[in-house]
Amino acid sequence: LRNETEIIERIWQALPTRPRKKSGDWLQLGVGDDAAVIRAANRDGAADGDWVLSTDAFLERVHFLTEVHSPADIGYKALARATSDLAAMGAVPKFFLLSMALPPDRTGAWLDGFLKGMSQAAREFGMMLIGGDTSRFRSAAINVTVGGQAVSDKGGRVHILTRSGARPGDLIYVSGTLGAAQLGLEVILHGLDGKARGPKIPRGGTWKRLLQPHLRPRIQIALGRWLAGENAPRRPIATAAIDSSDGLSTDLNHICQASGVGARIWASKIPAVRVPQGLRRRGFGLDPLQLALHGGEDYQLLFTVPPATSRGLPKQIRGVRLTQIGEIVRFSARSKKNAFCVELVGDEGGARPLQARGWDSFANQA
Ligand SMILES: [Mg+2]
Repeated sequence: LRNETEIIERIWQALPTRPRKKSGDWLQLGVGDDAAVIRAANRDGAADGDWVLSTDAFLERVHFLTEVHSPADIGYKALARATSDLAAMGAVPKFFLLSMALPPDRTGAWLDGFLKGMSQAAREFGMMLIGGDTSRFRSAAINVTVGGQAVSDKGGRVHILTRSGARPGDLIYVSGTLGAAQLGLEVILHGLDGKARGPKIPRGGTWKRLLQPHLRPRIQIALGRWLAGENAPRRPIATAAIDSSDGLSTDLNHICQASGVGARIWASKIPAVRVPQGLRRRGFGLDPLQLALHGGEDYQLLFTVPPATSRGLPKQIRGVRLTQIGEIVRFSARSKKNAFCVELVGDEGGARPLQARGWDSFANQA
């Protein structure tokens, strides 16, 4: 039995992933990051900007439940999740292709609702549909492929953010709040008392704010563009970036693996979701730090900046809070196989290895 990482590696081994040398300059970045980067050429063959591409599957019973999630929320989130990978590269979203399989009884009102939500996301992100495919299937399976354009700085130089640029000494930042989407999901799955027999959305406006991060995540397009150095004098603000889709422990691990570095983060600095007193008292097992470390689907940006840049970094960008949570450290390749590259410093000051326990599609999930 393989886990998600092993399955992805198996796919990369079995299929061609690099262009032949002579004609290889069109591929700027292939497999292994949040998105791929294709270099465009003008009529004379000169480089003319970079296009960023990513794809994402959104499946009934794996990622959403049609008896709980409204069609509009499903449509909105299907495009938001895919587009978040463009935000992580600092790209400007432009277009998407929608491939969907549906049971016949969901082609009427359900589909209309789905398209309404997706259309809202498309307008918000500035994207248009350019193609797709439809098919009949026993459950709803949605695949969205998104494309965007890399930003350029004042001098016209094109920049993208990757997972691989973090260097020892860089400081680690995260946008917004972590664990909020997971908290919303826990409330839906287990009810307000933690004992629900089936998933259910609590009624009443009080719970809306709690569920919003799960139902309609806000993705960080503007922040990504700024971090990539759009209209900046010379270079990107961030050295590396990823969107927090699988959970901090897993996503920070991706940056470390891709950059060949380690990371140390402080529990007390992590902007963890506030769990309402009412839920805590019910002995729900909802620990803010655990939700923040391992909860998925926040779609915030996790990024690194050099110390000199960090000193001038604003506390927030367009209302989105930026929090420094740790630093990038050296990591010896010798022990890479078994050792954990992320360390968590607890409130008592001791550091312990942090296992990547975020979302894995092929692991046993609760
Ligand atoms: Mg991602």
